[in-house]
Amino acid sequence: MEKLNKPAILVVDMLNDFVTGAIGCDRARAIVPATARLLDAAREKGVPVVYCNDAHRPGIDRELQIWGDHAIIGTPGAEVIPELTPKACDYVVPKRRYSGFFQTELDILLKELGVHTVVIAGLHTHMCCRHTSADAYCLGYDVVVAKEATNSFTEEDYQGGLAYLKTCYGADAYTNDELVAMF
Ligand code: ZN
Repeated sequence: MEKLNKPAILVVDMLNDFVTGAIGCDRARAIVPATARLLDAAREKGVPVVYCNDAHRPGIDRELQIWGDHAIIGTPGAEVIPELTPKACDYVVPKRRYSGFFQTELDILLKELGVHTVVIAGLHTHMCCRHTSADAYCLGYDVVVAKEATNSFTEEDYQGGLAYLKTCYGADAYTNDELVAMF
């Protein structure tokens, strides 16, 4: 299998509120072990791990009007789940919108790291992963998806998300084993 061109993993919204808290669900919890394994394999191979974390300001962020309060800055709900706590070698980028790129330092960080391909993991496939992939594509990155390490509220949203990413951004979805072979 061909190696990925200068990959980094983007871990989207694997936060307490998304997994066990305010908007948590079983499908989010189901991907935790596979995500942990993927991140460990990436670190071992020197592939940067970048967390894109919702960090909302209470009372004013417009996403809160749609989804209710979640991932409020400074609360436990906005912290990465304990199973995936960032290591010293990882990067953490807060965001206030669906996309990890929107008015954050993510693009400049990836450029400084020499990244060309983003591996999308986390929640939710059809929403924040999709918006992050859209901006990654527009900014010139290749996009691939870690299909064992992403999920949505429903199977339909998950499958629809994968299909959309493939159709619009040419983002192929790979298993952990396939990804590790391409690191
Ligand atoms: Zn949010």
